[in-house]
Amino acid sequence: MATDKKTRMTQQRRVILEEIRRYNNHPAADEIYERVRKRLPRISLGTVYRNLEVLCELGEIQCLVLSGAMKRYDGVAKKHYHIRCVGCGRVDDAPIAPLNELEDDLYGTTVFEIIGHNLEFTGLCPECSRQRAQHKAAG
Ligand SMILES: [Zn+2]
Ligand SMILES: [Zn+2]
Repeated sequence: MATDKKTRMTQQRRVILEEIRRYNNHPAADEIYERVRKRLPRISLGTVYRNLEVLCELGEIQCLVLSGAMKRYDGVAKKHYHIRCVGCGRVDDAPIAPLNELEDDLYGTTVFEIIGHNLEFTGLCPECSRQRAQHKAAG
C-alpha cells in the first residue's frame, strides 16, 4: 500500500513538472492545475500545491514571488531574472546573466551575510504596448 501511494505521488509529480516545463510562461498554481487536470482528471488543487512545494524544495523548479502578482512557478531552476508586464502580468525571462558582483560589492559593507538577491524588471509586453498605442490613436 505504502509503495503504491509513493509511486502514484511520483507520477503526479512528474506530470506536474512536465506541464510546468512544457511552456516557459511562469504559470500560477491554478493554471498548472488546469493543465495537469487534463492528464490526471482526479487530481485536486491541494495535491498540485503540495507537489509544487516539494518540487521547489527539491530544486527542480523555482517558486517566484513577484511584486503585484500571485506566486508563479518556473521550470527553469537556474538563477535568472524576470520581466513582468504591468498591463497583463505576463512574465518572461530577462536574457541577462545574474549580477553576482552586486553581492560581492556588498560583502564586508553590511553586518548581514548575503545569501541572494532578487531583481525584477517591469514593462509592457508587445500585446499591451500595441493596445496602449491603439488607445492613444483612438483618443
Ligand atoms: Zn501585457
Ligand atoms: Zn523564469
